Amino acid sequence: MNNKTSKHVKKASALSVFAFLTPFIIIIFFSFLFFVMLLGIFTDDGFDNADHDFGDGNSNLSDEVLGYRSLITEYAEEHGVPDQVDLIMALMMQESGGKGNDPMQSSESHCGSVDCIDDPELSIDKGIEYFASVWEQADERMELALQSYNFGSGFIDYVEENEGDYTLQQAIDFSAEKYEELKHTGDYGCVRPDAIMHDACYGDIYYVDAVLQYYHEDGEFDGTFTMPLDTMYITSTFGERTINGKPDFHNGTDLRCKGGITEIKAMMDGEARVAPLHSSLGYYVSLLHNEEVITRYAHMSEQLVRNGDKVKKGDVIGICGSTGNSTGPHLHLDVIIDGENLDPQTYFGF
Ligand SMILES: [Zn+2]
Repeated sequence: MNNKTSKHVKKASALSVFAFLTPFIIIIFFSFLFFVMLLGIFTDDGFDNADHDFGDGNSNLSDEVLGYRSLITEYAEEHGVPDQVDLIMALMMQESGGKGNDPMQSSESHCGSVDCIDDPELSIDKGIEYFASVWEQADERMELALQSYNFGSGFIDYVEENEGDYTLQQAIDFSAEKYEELKHTGDYGCVRPDAIMHDACYGDIYYVDAVLQYYHEDGEFDGTFTMPLDTMYITSTFGERTINGKPDFHNGTDLRCKGGITEIKAMMDGEARVAPLHSSLGYYVSLLHNEEVITRYAHMSEQLVRNGDKVKKGDVIGICGSTGNSTGPHLHLDVIIDGENLDPQTYFGF
């Protein structure tokens, strides 16, 4: 009996200690959450513009090919061609669209027969190893290396004995010669009508053009940029600020401009995304520069591009205004990388 009572007392006191500690536990928990959030913000702020590689702006790649980017990057580094990731992705797009277990179609170069590779990672490893070898033998000449990925490295010797560099005519002549040599095996069949006409049915004589349609599609995206306004005067910076006494996070940079007058220019080459009036951004234009990089220009009085327009660095895309959640004419500029807003000043160094 006594024993039982003391048990109850212990339990009750343990409960009251817990009740007493609860507010502290909650405070500690939320402080920790806040700290983690701050850490995230500061990590973004620490972004270094100089280290950022804009890439080559591939387009028309399938989701499957895009999904292999990190694996392709890894093996491109391993095989000594770290700068050719975008070209290799275009090549994979032509070979398979990224589908199947041998997306680089590297079975033939790896073991001499089709279908010996049934693991995408092995396909990428061996395909890039082979690409790196023709890339080196071709002295990094893109067209010659690409055609040799399709024809085999014998094409490089052939070209060097003749005109010295890739031409379509050399590809046709080489293909016709090899086809003449090998057609008795029955392994080669013409696919393209043009190839039938030339009796050039070994490999693909239009391989170079076929791959390059997936490369540099948006023109010469070189990562260079220009300022969005002729006169840059910052009225509000990126980061924490106070609006009407309340803390607020400003996810872009505000720049002074004259409503209805000042022209807003595209900072880099890109493709326009234009939306109807947005409650906070007003009339805005987003420019897609490559798969990761977006710049966004908000509160315009007028949008001067249409959805899908290809714009060039410096093109006028809109007129300054005060539409949406804005207290006066200004340009709100966002830089969005992989879906996250970064400080435009840090990113572009202005
Ligand atoms: Zn703003």
